[in-house]
Amino acid sequence: MKLLRLLVWLLLLCQPIAGVVGAEPSATITYIGSSGYLVKTTGHKLLLDGAFDNDVARFEVTTASEPIKQQLIHAQPPFDKLDMILVSHAHKGHFEATSIAQVIINNPQALVVTTEAVYSQLAELGELQSSSLNQIHYPRSEMGQRTHISHQGLIVAMTKTAHWGGLEQLNVEVTADDVNLAYALEAASFTPENVIDIQFVTALAPQSNARFRILTHQSGNEKKAELKKQVDLMPSTYFFTASGESIAIETTGNTINIK
Ligand SMILES: [Zn+2]
Repeated sequence: MKLLRLLVWLLLLCQPIAGVVGAEPSATITYIGSSGYLVKTTGHKLLLDGAFDNDVARFEVTTASEPIKQQLIHAQPPFDKLDMILVSHAHKGHFEATSIAQVIINNPQALVVTTEAVYSQLAELGELQSSSLNQIHYPRSEMGQRTHISHQGLIVAMTKTAHWGGLEQLNVEVTADDVNLAYALEAASFTPENVIDIQFVTALAPQSNARFRILTHQSGNEKKAELKKQVDLMPSTYFFTASGESIAIETTGNTINIK
């Protein structure tokens, strides 16, 4: 009884503290390459399109360095204990079956959200046992229809859109601790449900209402260098150009900035 009362007190004491900490969105973002990122919030780790095919180097897309790739595949820090793995679609710059299979096997606690095409390719590969395949969720909904799934305290809102090559693409909004994040490569057909703290965008215009933007999905060395110069002059916007680069972002007033 005494122990129970102590536990109740502890819970009551902890709640307001958690509330204060939770008021300030903060996250650390590590760039893998291509459109791939690791996002670490106070209590969660999300992998976004992180295990892609370095063959995209021929389009002058930034590729993953060998050490980063090995850390990711073998679930070594900071790529350990992932809570969620997003594979937005089955194109090479976002998905490489053998690599992602290893990442899934080494992160048995992670929820994988993706499209049916990615799921089928992983199933056909034959490297994943049924327990690993059961980690994978793909919405069976119609194009444009919003669905939700929650996992380990994460809330994931998903919408499928049509993508070139007859593929489907998954656009997501994730609430992780105090951070609302949007990874919607088809932003025009994805309406966020909440104010977005961090949004991955494929173009600098039109401006989004997100508090912090990360430019992604770029190719061409000259174009990337030019974009980097532009973005460096913009507040609350960032463009990663090197595999392994990492930034911590924190709230200052109404905007969030690089710490
Ligand atoms: Zn694509």
